[in-house]
Amino acid sequence: MSVQINNKIVGYSVVDDVEDESLAETPAVESTESSNEDISNVIQMHEKLERPDHLVGSTYKVKTPLSEHALYVTVNDIVLNEGTDHEQRRPFEVFINSKNMDHFQWIVALTRIISAVFRKGGDVTFLVEELRSVFDPRGGYFKKGGKYMPSLVAEIGDCIECHLKYIGMIGGSKVDAHQKEFLDKKRAEYDKKSVATKATSNTVQSDEIKSTQESSAAESFPAGSQLCAKCTTKAVIKMDGCMTCLNCGDSKCG
Ligand SMILES: [Zn+2]
Repeated sequence: MSVQINNKIVGYSVVDDVEDESLAETPAVESTESSNEDISNVIQMHEKLERPDHLVGSTYKVKTPLSEHALYVTVNDIVLNEGTDHEQRRPFEVFINSKNMDHFQWIVALTRIISAVFRKGGDVTFLVEELRSVFDPRGGYFKKGGKYMPSLVAEIGDCIECHLKYIGMIGGSKVDAHQKEFLDKKRAEYDKKSVATKATSNTVQSDEIKSTQESSAAESFPAGSQLCAKCTTKAVIKMDGCMTCLNCGDSKCG
């Protein structure tokens, strides 16, 4: 529709009421309004949420070369909106126990702060990266499987990541199924090559290699693997002129 303007334009205003009214008439908006109401009934994590008497949780054992005693990290979860479509499991508190009391006051402080962050709600996954980027000035250590741990704090971050993956707050492995298959194939090729070269020099040794490979096939990476700068795991091998990480798939050629 066109309107002819014969007079001078002396002022104008944007008419926005018309748009709102026309939208309000459509049933689509009504349905979102009612679903908004539903969402407002959904309980989200917030700090005033009372702790139920019973919580479910998981305990992770951490054994480090720093101490002869293991550390036990327990994360308890609260289940919100149980039995509804909005059911979700959120971390509520963390406890750390050990016979080793060396770092106890810091550990207690850390667990209290982490628990407080959990109870605030929202996206708490940032905690993992924060903790994992703490480096012990005395140096870190390698875990079974060749993963480098820069500090005890980082190890606690690892436990929390493990738990958040378990309850579905963090997605699974960053390596997708297709890439995993490719890496497994590379790994098998590499193993075959290295066994073949050793076999020519010493037949008894090759049997030994085979047996150790069978026992640790899933967890560890080939002996002599280099440290990957991306995932800090000793899993980088040289194949076909490329340095390839068998853990995260990071690759550099040339
Ligand atoms: Zn890597």
